[in-house]
Amino acid sequence: MKLDRERDLIIEYGRKLVSSGLTSGTGGNLSLFNRREGLIAVSPSGMDYFKTLKKDVVILDLNGNLVEGKRKPTSERDLHLYLYRARSDVNAVVHVHSVFATTLASLGWEIPPISYLVALSGSKVPVAPYATYGTPELAMAVTEYIKDFNAVLMANHGLVTVGEDLESGFNRAEIIEFISQVYWRARCVGEPIVLPEEEITRITEKFQSYGQRT
Ligand SMILES: [Zn+2]
Repeated sequence: MKLDRERDLIIEYGRKLVSSGLTSGTGGNLSLFNRREGLIAVSPSGMDYFKTLKKDVVILDLNGNLVEGKRKPTSERDLHLYLYRARSDVNAVVHVHSVFATTLASLGWEIPPISYLVALSGSKVPVAPYATYGTPELAMAVTEYIKDFNAVLMANHGLVTVGEDLESGFNRAEIIEFISQVYWRARCVGEPIVLPEEEITRITEKFQSYGQRT
């Protein structure tokens, strides 16, 4: 079986999407790209995350050809492929329909740097224009923004985040959902203060050395 470790991670983080409240039912999807082997492990379409087994994870190449698996890949297959083609530093894609990010996406509100954590995306979290789910048009719309940002709201749909691995992609989704909630709450009672651009640049540099990295 190809991509043994990646299959385990797709299952582990699929369950985390549900247990963290980032998605419910079979919503959302995720993938992991092994660039050395040129193969991508993607979640199967419409399957319960807690019932998904190793053999259900679908293996594709970068052109979307089926390499291994009997299940249909996620309906957002093109979205995942386009993002990997657009950025060579991206090895994981996480897509969710979390409540607060989707609320802002439905309002068409991008998230300005109202918290230092917005720097995990970049200078803001932009909103990609609406296109029908599962279409190359949607994949193209998001790709335009992913060149400059690690998190993109998809108008009237949800959120997509990228990372160098599944852990960072997942953490970004969790934090952007938190920021979305804070932004929404702040806008309910007033006008949140936006951090200046130079502070976001400073934070971005600080993030490079944050945590256990040496
Ligand atoms: Zn979706």
